[in-house]
Amino acid sequence: MLDTIADLAAITIERIRLAKQIDQARMLAETEQLRSALLTSISHDLRTPLASIMGSISSLRSYGAMYDDAQREELLTTAQDETERMHRFVGNLLDMTRLDAGALQPKRETCELQEIVGSALQRTARLLERHQVSTAYSHELPMLTLDFVLMEQVLVNLLENAGKYAPEGTRIEISAQRHRYAVSIEVRDEGPGIPEADLQRIFDPFFRIRGGDRQRAGIGLGLAVCRGFVDAMGGRIRARNRRERSGSIFEIELPSSLFVSPAEAA
Ligand code: ADP
Repeated sequence: MLDTIADLAAITIERIRLAKQIDQARMLAETEQLRSALLTSISHDLRTPLASIMGSISSLRSYGAMYDDAQREELLTTAQDETERMHRFVGNLLDMTRLDAGALQPKRETCELQEIVGSALQRTARLLERHQVSTAYSHELPMLTLDFVLMEQVLVNLLENAGKYAPEGTRIEISAQRHRYAVSIEVRDEGPGIPEADLQRIFDPFFRIRGGDRQRAGIGLGLAVCRGFVDAMGGRIRARNRRERSGSIFEIELPSSLFVSPAEAA
């Protein structure tokens, strides 16, 4: 009898071990599939702008002399736009890698929010030149303990998305407001908004909403980087849709634990 129980136990343990191995093998196979799909997607996303840059340059080389100024300018603009797009793409990939590796150590610097917004607006000026961009700050915004570069990157990603997804000529508003226990920063646009079911998922790595005029999106890392950076600094980020018109609002909330007291700031 004991033998039978011992045998059964041994068989069960062996089965569990095998099941674990099979499970691991399946997980490995799935991971391998994901890795390969990811590489394909990244290669494709880099290839499209590269093809466009190469096309513009070779056209300028072969026929440049026959083109007028406006035509040459158009080709140069295409090459510049696509180069900037690739630059953003690679930047987001690198940021995501840093986050994944757990290698991100946000600095604790005393920052003025208006200065970070100003700097983010400078970096996105060309992309947003056909939008109406405005800023609004509530009185008595506190100085904050943040990592200037990370916070600037978060705002740049949100502004770039507003520029990509909201039609030219529409308004993009950045506002910062002081509340009792937090400061909130909002980026509002007048674009298509986000389907309610996707409001949470848009912050997941590689999540994208496909179709329509969203074709020229990146690979779905911009918002994942935003969430990773904001979390690392001790804040919170979320998205909602506008009620009164179409468009989305991205809100970053920074708790009062990040406020620098006037005495410290002095
Ligand atoms: P992507 O590189 O695709 O822009 P993001 O992580 O920045 O990746 O955004 C994820 C998805 O969320 C996008 O594919 C887009 O569909 C949607 N999205 C992000 N920002 C906006 C916005 N301001 N308006 C509408 N949709 C947006």
